[in-house]
Amino acid sequence: MVFRWPWWQNPALSCHLVDRAPHAGYRPHMNQPSSIDTMAQEKLIALQKADLHRRLYPTERRSGMAAKRDGAALLSFSDNDYLGLSTHPSIIRAATKAVEAYGASAGASRLVSGNHPLYDAFETRLAAFKSCEAALVFGSGYLANIGTIPVFAGPQDVIFIDELAHACLFAGAQLSRARVQCFAHNDMAHLGHLLARHRHAHRHALILTDGVFSMDGDQAPLKNIHNLAKTHDAWLMVDDAHGLGVLGNGHGTAFSQGVQPDLMMGTLSKALGSYGGYVAGSHAVVDLLRNRARSLVYTTGLPPSALAAAHASLEIISMDPERCARPLSLARRFCQTLGLPAPQSAVVPLIIGSPQKAMDAQEKLQQAGFLVVAIRPPTVPENTARLRFSFSATHQEKDVDRLCQSIKNLGLAP
Ligand SMILES: *Cc1c(COP(=O)(O)O)cnc(C)c1O
Repeated sequence: MVFRWPWWQNPALSCHLVDRAPHAGYRPHMNQPSSIDTMAQEKLIALQKADLHRRLYPTERRSGMAAKRDGAALLSFSDNDYLGLSTHPSIIRAATKAVEAYGASAGASRLVSGNHPLYDAFETRLAAFKSCEAALVFGSGYLANIGTIPVFAGPQDVIFIDELAHACLFAGAQLSRARVQCFAHNDMAHLGHLLARHRHAHRHALILTDGVFSMDGDQAPLKNIHNLAKTHDAWLMVDDAHGLGVLGNGHGTAFSQGVQPDLMMGTLSKALGSYGGYVAGSHAVVDLLRNRARSLVYTTGLPPSALAAAHASLEIISMDPERCARPLSLARRFCQTLGLPAPQSAVVPLIIGSPQKAMDAQEKLQQAGFLVVAIRPPTVPENTARLRFSFSATHQEKDVDRLCQSIKNLGLAP
């Protein structure tokens, strides 16, 4: 099997859209754009032509998944705030108290003077919740992945990564300078084949996968992956950004599948309604990360309010399994009504195909009062532009029913 690097994970992606030499005859002149502007404009035009240009829309968020955009009051099915905790009064109170007690910023890297007292309490609580010896908080999930992977894989090592894994796992794999082997999505035969073929020629091996895939909502078969990892002496790292708070009474995908990966990564920015990332594992693994993860060492600690909010959310999650079960149950209701396959998480894709059609569908749903964002390449593979629905504990059943009705009325249902 040949090595395949998914084209949509290429950081220099827009290059393939513009394949032209720089302006040879260009002379600096007052009224002429500089060559960097010309380069940027050419790429932007190519993106626009392919319906892949993106822009930022000011969006206000309120409790109950209410959102305001372009002056319109909308109901959002695009947030990853799965439990509605980002606007929960006791979470806001916890964050406010932390600002008052410790200030707005950590002031320095955690290894310098930025390790305010809220870190220890939260990491201890999180490690227990993940049934791990220790946990380490990073500035974001993205930073957790790009910092952690190069600590456990280097140029003599090999990484096996699911082709639909999150962009920041690919970024971490690239930064590690390990050999990277990409396996077909959730294809255990392919992963087994690649392990048998390439594992022996390398010192260490690391398998990377999402627990819940962020744009498809399906789960990785972690038990099978874990067994393959053991058979081939490989380590397993699971990114559970979308499983925490939603699956396994909130404990996440690995817990719900009865597996304990070597590295359990997640984010404080989704179900925990705050900001930040984490890796949980053994004492030794976490202590090495504390020493070597460059995205921990060389960046400022999180604002105290982010830790306080995440900690308060974790307490709610551990006491309220019903809240944790709600997003998946609403996703089930949605899929049943529309005749879609049963969901495996709170994320449900409706594949549209072309970027332009997906953008049209987004626009029509917005006119019907719903904020549902179209996801286009390179976030997802070509020809699979989609609407991505995410369900939250604070949605009402009648909201989901209204959404289904609009989808049917617009002819978007399968
Ligand atoms: C959102 C996400 C991340 C990044 O987490 P942030 O805290 O937002 O940086 C990482 N992995 C997956 C699968 C995600 O969906």
